[in-house]
Amino acid sequence: MPESAMIDRFGRAITYLRVSVTDRCDFRCVYCMAEDMTFLPKKDLLTIEELERLCTAFIAKGVRKLRITGGEPLVRRDIMKLFEALGRQIGTGGLEEVTVTTNGSQLERFARPLFDAGVRRINVSLDTLDRAKFKAITRRGELGRVMAGITAAQEAGLRIKLNTVALKGVNDDEIPEMIRWAHAHDMDLTLIETMPLGDIDGDRTDQYLPLSLVRARLKELFTLEDIPYRTGGPARYVKVAETGGRLGFITPMTHNFCESCNRVRVTCTGTLFMCLGQEDAADLRAPLRASEGNDLLMQAIDEAIARKPKGHDFVIDRRTSRPSVRRHMSVTGG
Ligand code: SAM
Ligand code: SF4
Repeated sequence: MPESAMIDRFGRAITYLRVSVTDRCDFRCVYCMAEDMTFLPKKDLLTIEELERLCTAFIAKGVRKLRITGGEPLVRRDIMKLFEALGRQIGTGGLEEVTVTTNGSQLERFARPLFDAGVRRINVSLDTLDRAKFKAITRRGELGRVMAGITAAQEAGLRIKLNTVALKGVNDDEIPEMIRWAHAHDMDLTLIETMPLGDIDGDRTDQYLPLSLVRARLKELFTLEDIPYRTGGPARYVKVAETGGRLGFITPMTHNFCESCNRVRVTCTGTLFMCLGQEDAADLRAPLRASEGNDLLMQAIDEAIARKPKGHDFVIDRRTSRPSVRRHMSVTGG
């Protein structure tokens, strides 16, 4: 731990930073965005150089793992420059790994450059294996392109974890098949509950499917063995005896995992969110731009970490139709 390590009021060491590099996306997933989205003006975004400087400051403050996310990170122009700059820092200071969460649409093109930059593991979001359903969920995605991206990533040597949002009446019937398919192709799969983030066009109570229910159904088909495997995130894993693969559950709604939270998130405008589920935030862009040195930035980070809340309190119920948190997941970065 560096001397200036980030330890919050509850004794949690912050070692994981998720960086959203754009709020834009080539998809409009129904649980994530509205059809008509207003995106930030480009001038509000941190430049690639500023993003690099910000990440480097966090690495000096004890961040060991960086995840680049969005919006869709691979649609940001010149994004490889950021991966290359960060990749060069792996193993030199405290930084252990750089990862990315992507919808896979551009992966065919980026798989090899990502590997060459030092990325070894990626998360690909995939909610269905059915072409028509994929189009319906993403509103504009092509399943074939994502599949080609997955193949290219595996050929390049990237390990893939699939993230699948469990959606009631949409993909719940397909989950067992997706698990078998992922495991047969040497990929872990993690199921995620929908979280009430940002206005979408539909009703979230229609989509919400508690993973406790999914797990109970899966137990009728598979033997699920709890295992202590962790990737530094909130997922809890089981081994599926029949396939030999790993299955993760991220259950923000039915199980509160905040006590072991080691992460903070920064948006593409340099706003630091200490908790995905709370509104409190700190602006890091002003101190970043105020001087060439990092003193003001470091001070702003310390002040923010001192305010990191104990946890979130997400609720999805029919009495409150408003989202618990107004900003979309694509702003804070999933
Ligand atoms: N565009 C990239 C992707 O889809 O992987 C990265 C950003 S996306 C916001 C990150 C993850 O958040 C995706 O796995 C997505 O399924 C998930 N996500 C988006 N909105 C969500 C919500 N309201 N509840 C739960 N997960 C959500
Ligand atoms: Fe885009 Fe990812 Fe949100 Fe889907 S989940 S709309 S791919 S940011």
